[in-house]
Amino acid sequence: MEKYLVAKASFLKRIDQEISEGKEVIAPVKQENQANFHRLRSTKEVLWGGPQTVLSAKAIVFPPKEELLRYEVNDEIRVQPSVETKPLILLGVHPCDINGISLLDKVFTEKNVDEHYVKKRENLTIIGVECLEPCSQESFCYRKDSVFPWDGFDLFLTDMGRNFFVEVGSAKGEALISELGSKATQADLEKVKKIRKERDALFDQEQRKLKPKLSDLPRLLRENYDSPVWTERGAKCFGCGSCNMVCPTCYCFDVRDCVELDLKHGSRSRWWDGCMLTDFTRVATGEIFREDRGARLRHRTYRKDCYLFEKWGRSFCTGCGRCGKACLTKIVDPLDIANEIYGRSRSR
Ligand code: SF4
Ligand code: SF4
Repeated sequence: MEKYLVAKASFLKRIDQEISEGKEVIAPVKQENQANFHRLRSTKEVLWGGPQTVLSAKAIVFPPKEELLRYEVNDEIRVQPSVETKPLILLGVHPCDINGISLLDKVFTEKNVDEHYVKKRENLTIIGVECLEPCSQESFCYRKDSVFPWDGFDLFLTDMGRNFFVEVGSAKGEALISELGSKATQADLEKVKKIRKERDALFDQEQRKLKPKLSDLPRLLRENYDSPVWTERGAKCFGCGSCNMVCPTCYCFDVRDCVELDLKHGSRSRWWDGCMLTDFTRVATGEIFREDRGARLRHRTYRKDCYLFEKWGRSFCTGCGRCGKACLTKIVDPLDIANEIYGRSRSR
């Protein structure tokens, strides 16, 4: 992996040049009192190191609503896939969101390769930025081994004052950066090592502790399937699904058909769905097989820190803290749940 040192001014000028040539560049910007991903008119708008965006970067490659195909019924039936995608730069992405996309890359290309996701992903250039301070009170990325991106980025920037230390993750990234700066020297590498050591110490001190070992979470959950924690927390759940919607790794969707009034044309779309919503488990007969909200909370937690963790070797919670922030009754935070279960199982 090549590493460069690039003057911030040169780097931002390069991105501004992409914008002026019509390339879509999306980055976190301040909107009211929140941060959101938005198309840039200039890199001056970027909110560097701000709080996490309300929705994660997932929404760029896996939008909340996405048309999959259009059809026409006349003498014959014609079906046309709808794959809307164009080259896009996603700038200023935090490691927890890069890792979220990295996990989705596995899921959407596993067996039935998802053409819609893959085409968007191929057109995407991800430029991440290192978090040198925790971005919110709720985040716990350090506890989830997610304070640094595992893979999935094209370029990754570390703030070094007047310069960015830039790590290249792909040929696309290399093409964007190689003429801008110089190869990092041993002294630059030592400086970055020091910055990261200090960052780790700060995150370790500031972020809430995960009491069980990260690698023990699947076993801990399997041993506590009948814990009263699920019923107690579930009793306070509104079933609003906000925790699903904001999560960078939730990937469930519903498929809906829309028939036009002439009954000859129509479209099929997918919409984000979530396991905390009542209709998620409503089946054709009208029954709902996971009606109890505690059981839904357990299922959500098991998906993150047990089933998918065991399957892919990584927790499907990157510790971004969005669900804990979004939940009005403060029952869903995976770190709080793990700590409570750990504490209660030890005192038995
Ligand atoms: S489960 Fe919550 S903290 Fe973990 S990645 Fe999803 S939204 Fe972020
Ligand atoms: S856990 Fe919280 S955010 Fe999730 S559905 Fe229940 S009330 Fe809504």
